[in-house]
Amino acid sequence: MPAHDVLIIGAGLAGQRAALAAAEAGASVAIMSKVHPVRSHSVAAAGGINAAIAIDDDWTEHAYDTVKGSDYLGDQDAIEIMCSEAPGEAMHLEHMGVTFHRNEKGELDLRAFGGASKKRTAYVADITGQAILHVLYEQLMRYHESVDRYEEWFATSLIVDAGGHCAGAVARDVRTGAMEIFDAKSVILASGGNGQCYKPTTNALICTGDGIAQAYRVGAPIMDMEMVQYHPTTLAENGFLITEGARGEGAHLLNSEGRRFMEDYAPSKMELASRDVVSRAEQTEINEGRGVGADGQGIYLDITVVARKRVLEALREIVNIGRDFAGTDITREPIMIRPGQHYIMGGVKTDVDGQTPITGLYAAGEVACVSVHGGNRLGANSLLDTLIFGRRSGEHAAARGKELPMPHAPVSRLSEDVERIEAIIAREHGGRRISEIKDELGTTMNEYVAVYREEDGLQKAHEIVHRLKEEAEAAYVDDRGTVFNQDVLGAIELGYMLDCAEATVVAAIERKESRGAQFRIDYPERNDEEWLKHIDITRGPDGEPEISYSPVTITKWQPEVRKY
Ligand SMILES: Cc1cc2nc3c(=O)[nH]c(=O)nc-3n(C[C@H](O)[C@H](O)[C@H](O)COP(=O)(O)OP(=O)(O)OC[C@H]3O[C@@H](n4cnc5c(N)ncnc54)[C@H](O)[C@@H]3O)c2cc1C
Repeated sequence: MPAHDVLIIGAGLAGQRAALAAAEAGASVAIMSKVHPVRSHSVAAAGGINAAIAIDDDWTEHAYDTVKGSDYLGDQDAIEIMCSEAPGEAMHLEHMGVTFHRNEKGELDLRAFGGASKKRTAYVADITGQAILHVLYEQLMRYHESVDRYEEWFATSLIVDAGGHCAGAVARDVRTGAMEIFDAKSVILASGGNGQCYKPTTNALICTGDGIAQAYRVGAPIMDMEMVQYHPTTLAENGFLITEGARGEGAHLLNSEGRRFMEDYAPSKMELASRDVVSRAEQTEINEGRGVGADGQGIYLDITVVARKRVLEALREIVNIGRDFAGTDITREPIMIRPGQHYIMGGVKTDVDGQTPITGLYAAGEVACVSVHGGNRLGANSLLDTLIFGRRSGEHAAARGKELPMPHAPVSRLSEDVERIEAIIAREHGGRRISEIKDELGTTMNEYVAVYREEDGLQKAHEIVHRLKEEAEAAYVDDRGTVFNQDVLGAIELGYMLDCAEATVVAAIERKESRGAQFRIDYPERNDEEWLKHIDITRGPDGEPEISYSPVTITKWQPEVRKY
């Protein structure tokens, strides 16, 4: 039975950074991923990572922009830590081998990003996530004696002992179907977000909220779940992302009249206002009949105003995406985009060292809610979040492990999960297919829990999610084998997604105001008096979500009217 000081579930940027930090601190580490680590969703990250490294910049300006971007829901102690540690982390990445773009003088080049008062986004063309992920993977190889990799292993549940401490996890080898208990003094969830609750989404198929639901099921609170980011530039047909780097390089947004409509919504920042503001502006243009395309449901992103040479050098990936997935040469003609689901600001509630209220259980990256993004994440702040809080979690968990004996979970914990999976495989044909339920979930969330929300729609979404939860209990799988049985894993993931979606809908109904990504047509104003607080959700004894509140930490920046 594998036993480690630190078990890390997830091998994207948060997980690999946590593993490196824990190994450097002398811990024995297991890092597990349901797909090969370099196929983690982080590999898709495009535009860059924020750090106040320019001579005329300062981390306090980065922190202020982040607080304002969050619509004052972000916790300012955590934001201060993230922004003050950013320059050191970016330099560390460079020294480890990340080939950040340099300007003609040989200095690190920085590009503009939304909601930022300075150019502060370091980048590797538009493949920044891939560049960082591969370097971390290589660096981890140096610790092959203390880091065990479990690639293509799927964690099925967390183990919490009788004293309420997290003591490991149960997992299944995707290749063979074998199941094991992983004992661990600490577990770090680094298992990413739950974008697959929406259809379309920019997120990879693996973003099914596993860690959020697993933590929730063992009693950890999840927070800010109503805050779901719609990115302003996703391909209208299929949800593929066109990086904010395009607007950072100077691209324009145009309505059917050929006008840069952002001057009506954010006259000083224009296309580089924060994402919630730009997505709402686009949706308003579409709703008021100024959209483009055959159905009027799109907006033009005009990248032809950026020099072709620069586009081919700094945005080469979206040249390919435009050509392959929209049949558009973005260097010669505008491309049709619209707002699409992209990121989950909420997640497992943690402190600034990644600790959840369950001792021994940590979370970092998109699975977690520290909360540095509050109501709206600034572009290029997620990679930063994964690395800073991944590292801090790894360091903290390693230090904690030095004091503790190795726990040993009873074998009955293994049989519980084995039986659960066997019961799924044994279901009779007759119910709905997993894929049908997932499809209905995605389109429901995208219809009612999107850029604009209101009570009736949210209640309808709530009813549908409830029904889908019941249907999921009876949904059948076709594959009854053990080797790469993605069908049965899909059934488990569907359960996770439904838990996450339920929490999102319940929190969106609860928050009766408009702040950040939550815009309620029926409560269009921000209401600091009643709602400057986090919504926390825990699983009640009957399995239903229970709501409580926690305060927003304010250090330096009092809430102000938010304008761009
Ligand atoms: C197209 C795109 C472009 C983006 N560009 C940027 C950008 O330029 N800058 C920026 O800051 N942010 C960007 N983002 C956001 C950013 O990429 C993500 O928020 C971030 O990479 C999440 O990293 P993570 O380590 O938390 O999780 P992930 O990279 O999603 O990794 C999750 C890991 O958990 C594993 N896992 C999940 N469930 C299980 C399970 N049950 N058992 C075992 N393993 C499991 C997965 O296999 C994976 O290894 C972008 C997002 C998208 C979609």
